[in-house]
Amino acid sequence: MTMPNFSYVRPKSLKETFSHLSAGNARIHAGGTDLLGCLRDGVFTAEKVVSISQLDELKRVERLKDGSIRIGALATVAELTNHELVKEGYPALAQAALEVASPQLRNQGTIGGNLCQKPRCWYYRGEFHCTRKGGTRCFAMAGENQYHCILGGRGCYIVHPSDIAPALVAYGASVEIAGAGETRKIPVEKLFVLPEQGITKETILEPGEVLTAVLLPPAEEGFHSSYRKVRARGSWDFALAGVALALHFHEGRVAGARIVLSGAAPIPWRCPDSEKIITGQSLDDDIIARAAAAAMRQARPMQHNEYKIELFKGLIAEELAAYKRS
Ligand SMILES: Cc1cc2nc3c(=O)[nH]c(=O)nc-3n(C[C@H](O)[C@H](O)[C@H](O)COP(=O)(O)OP(=O)(O)OC[C@H]3O[C@@H](n4cnc5c(N)ncnc54)[C@H](O)[C@@H]3O)c2cc1C
Repeated sequence: MTMPNFSYVRPKSLKETFSHLSAGNARIHAGGTDLLGCLRDGVFTAEKVVSISQLDELKRVERLKDGSIRIGALATVAELTNHELVKEGYPALAQAALEVASPQLRNQGTIGGNLCQKPRCWYYRGEFHCTRKGGTRCFAMAGENQYHCILGGRGCYIVHPSDIAPALVAYGASVEIAGAGETRKIPVEKLFVLPEQGITKETILEPGEVLTAVLLPPAEEGFHSSYRKVRARGSWDFALAGVALALHFHEGRVAGARIVLSGAAPIPWRCPDSEKIITGQSLDDDIIARAAAAAMRQARPMQHNEYKIELFKGLIAEELAAYKRS
């Protein structure tokens, strides 16, 4: 496919950005690593591409007075891997960022773009008029579905492509969304949309809105976090399965837990039953095995992706075992 024609603007302020976005079929360009591929492959169209790269206010990573961390939407994925504030307080986020793509893509891709990227389903990205593109058929259902979801699919079986999103959900992070009207703040967990809530959308962002920042709550004592990803090849690949853990320990017991999966569902997938099983407990083999099994209880695999169930159980169990009572 060849790149279609579009006009390209680089506004100097958010206000100017909103006015460009409100006119016709306009798309935001941050690092362009996902957007340009989508345009070239005809996944969607744009009459105008609005680059936000001149908006310095979206580039800052800073600690706020209340101890929380504000990461501007244009912070690059590479910055997240080595920024002191991230590495010190939010290791799962730094680890997740390091798992993203390749060094070149991490240098160019931004946190905002990573959260708003389009899914990687080969039917959606290919020349198939699938349900996510407004068609009537999900081609993965009877097709090559080895990389598709086992949880949360209905009418569309994508997996959410971001490694960063599950880590943010595990931390209880929020995003700031600005539009021509008021700015709103919502938990990252509520940013993403399941197919049954809107099959052609990935996020709740309305046309013309810009994700301006990610906000991480203050890191607390006794808090431990990690992100681990399994992929089909050694590097530069999306998750077959991944797990972000954020565990709060008090006197050797789990006082609070968030377990969030990547590669499992169309959105970063929380495991509330597993979280309940480990909360209040000190971790041993039995509790860990029960928690890992509970995470997969609702799984509905397709013809070629049943392997993911055991993969996730093993991955969750191994990650929790790092915190086992000795
Ligand atoms: C070969 C390859 C491998 C990859 N592997 C991984 C991987 O393993 N793990 C992973 O997590 N990701 C992976 N990615 C995805 C990559 O991380 C994203 O492409 C990148 O983070 C997107 O950032 P960007 O700034 O380039 O976004 P862009 O391409 O500029 O934008 C992406 C989308 O988000 C929208 N957008 C961008 N910024 C905003 C904003 N601030 N507000 C609202 N909408 C916005 C754009 O309109 C566009 O639709 C891979 C990508 C490629 C090409």
